[in-house]
Amino acid sequence: MNLSQYNTLRLPARADRVIQIDSVNQLSEITAALGQTPRCILGAGSNVVLHAPLAATVLLARIMGRSIAEDGCLTAGAGEDWHTLVMWSLEQGYAGLENLALIPGTVGAAPVQNIGAYGVELSDRIKAVTAWDFKNKKLIRLNASDCGFSYRQSIFRDPATQGPWDQPRYLITEIELQLRPLANAQVEINYADLKSAFAHRAKPPSAQEVADAVIAIRRRKLPDPKEIGNVGSFFKNPMVSQLQAKHLSLLHPDLPQYPAQASHHEQCKISAAWLIERCGFKGARRGDVGVHEGHALVLVNHGGGTGREILALAHEIQQAVVAKFGIFLEPEPIFLPQR
Ligand SMILES: Cc1cc2nc3c(=O)[nH]c(=O)nc-3n(C[C@H](O)[C@H](O)[C@H](O)COP(=O)(O)OP(=O)(O)OC[C@H]3O[C@@H](n4cnc5c(N)ncnc54)[C@H](O)[C@@H]3O)c2cc1C
Repeated sequence: MNLSQYNTLRLPARADRVIQIDSVNQLSEITAALGQTPRCILGAGSNVVLHAPLAATVLLARIMGRSIAEDGCLTAGAGEDWHTLVMWSLEQGYAGLENLALIPGTVGAAPVQNIGAYGVELSDRIKAVTAWDFKNKKLIRLNASDCGFSYRQSIFRDPATQGPWDQPRYLITEIELQLRPLANAQVEINYADLKSAFAHRAKPPSAQEVADAVIAIRRRKLPDPKEIGNVGSFFKNPMVSQLQAKHLSLLHPDLPQYPAQASHHEQCKISAAWLIERCGFKGARRGDVGVHEGHALVLVNHGGGTGREILALAHEIQQAVVAKFGIFLEPEPIFLPQR
């Protein structure tokens, strides 16, 4: 089966078989039928690079359903579309997800890399994750504190806990988020782009206005995967020590730096896009793949590109950034099969 419709880079990798999971009731039977044969999980394919055939059964997590309790506890099935959920939560009168508007993908994948944008991470709002445990063949509910969340990381992404790409241990079925009624909401607008969007305002914006601003900024800055294949940011922003950050800013006063999450206050995030742009890659093209002309962090498929070509370009960028700045850029998307 060709997976080009199942990944936003539109890469033409093949898989042995695809099974759609619509209900948790299917999981026991599917586990028994698969036995130890290779399997892998896909949501909407907006954070994967399919660079070779997948000798595995692909499980599409499509469990639907969403509800919100009066206290702001939102429960959503893994197959729900993330952005639709964000907008729905605001319509229901609850705030908390507005900074995470317009991130592509499914709800079930959101905890995998602890999605984050504009100063908020999923881990700031998540209460619990329910997952099918293939090892013990049962559903388990993990509190947020058991999910190992950090910058673009969780136990669901770490091979030490999730296992190899073709034997993943956990399939997320549902998540619970703790939101706040709009009336008591405090919005987070410290991120530079949002700060300037509301600089002229005397009163803080509403959560809906923050979502609208985030959507407008994202539409302006990021290419739409429906128009050109991409997975958003291809590299994580590197985390460096405060000392290294100071040293870098002496050498490169215009290198953008961002504060790390509170749990990593001794570190500093620096802009991967700036490093790549300074190596001359913005708008570069290698055959049918390239770097987006508007955003140096986004690798694109112009149409007929392959996963191998994307990986070769990513490698070329990593080498150039190491040679010029001595900094290694870690890829953000997951390479399938894993290398
Ligand atoms: C234009 C664009 C902008 C983006 N912006 C951001 C951003 O601002 N912030 C950000 O954090 N990310 C961003 N991303 C990346 C992406 O949107 C997120 O990582 C998203 O959560 C991926 O969802 P998905 O359903 O497409 O997952 P997939 O790409 O299908 O899968 C990603 C990983 O999660 C695993 N997985 C998927 N579903 C499950 C499940 N139910 N249980 C267990 N494992 C599962 C897969 O095996 C794979 O390893 C962006 C991507 C694009 C294309």
